[in-house]
Amino acid sequence: MTQLNHADLLADPGRFVNLGDFDPASTGNFKNKRHAREKLRADITRLAALQDIFFAQERYALLIILQGMDGAGKDGAIKHVMTGVNPQGIDVSSFKVPSAVDLTHDYLWRSNQKLPPRGKIGIFNRSYYEELAVVRVHPAVLAREELPPGGTAAGTIWNDRYEDITAIERHLSRNGTRVLKFFLHLSNEEQRQRLLERLDTPAKNWKLSAADVHERTFWDSYQHAYEELLTHTSVETAPWYIIPADHKWFSRVAVASIIVAELDSLGLKYPQVSDQQRENLAAIGKQLEKRADGSHDSGAVVAVVKSRQPQLNGSS
Ligand code: AMP
Ligand code: MG
Repeated sequence: MTQLNHADLLADPGRFVNLGDFDPASTGNFKNKRHAREKLRADITRLAALQDIFFAQERYALLIILQGMDGAGKDGAIKHVMTGVNPQGIDVSSFKVPSAVDLTHDYLWRSNQKLPPRGKIGIFNRSYYEELAVVRVHPAVLAREELPPGGTAAGTIWNDRYEDITAIERHLSRNGTRVLKFFLHLSNEEQRQRLLERLDTPAKNWKLSAADVHERTFWDSYQHAYEELLTHTSVETAPWYIIPADHKWFSRVAVASIIVAELDSLGLKYPQVSDQQRENLAAIGKQLEKRADGSHDSGAVVAVVKSRQPQLNGSS
């Protein structure tokens, strides 16, 4: 099966990111969508199996952050990569323009409440990284945050935010939350095509707004803001991956593969049952051997309990 080189997609911590060096139309080692299908299917199956153990173990949490321009494919990536995963184990949070209540708090407040607990995968569809993107591109949006005078001093605010966000993510990582960040890297022309498609397809009309088209005029400012944030917030414990997004099928196979590798690296195990607990289970099994009509099973239940070991393949 064709594999993917994750290192090619990583924004190397400490290295300046020039988006011009990353081709949005790249498809890695894959020739076409059909060629990638086997790998995507295998990863979706593997993800479901790993997530089952991840959920049972309640040791780690996984925070997946998706950023990208309008039309980059954030929603589609979530929908396709997460098919197969038990819905009880994931929480998807979409961050829109902050509400009046949100604005009475610091900018991390609303996302703090959505952080995944141990055992769960939390997906942020947009995130506090908008605070380094749309908020940076539009000074009027920053003005709405009503920060104290010193807080917005030109030249320091963005550095302060890199520092604070990096510190928070390090804190999360030290406490068991793995953080993976994906920037879906789309070309200007492909965005234009996708917005046109939203116009042409009745079922997609709802996704298109005049604001999306207006935001296109700030394309270069956004690219610059993203280069800066990718450069300053890709760290060992919370790396950014720059995912070529002109081919939706490729971004999905890439995101799935990186998530699977992350979960694989955790050495997940179903919770182990102690000898004492196994004795208790055997006692429970004795009770279950008795049918409602008073007749008995042959003792098979207890034998099964005594021999059963947790399986790592996720089947139950
Ligand atoms: P969508 O993801 O297409 O539903 O659009 C959500 C909109 O909310 C985008 O235009 C984002 O830029 C905007 N947004 C998300 N977070 C923030 C934020 N912290 N400050 C200002 N705008 C935001
Ligand atoms: Mg939109």
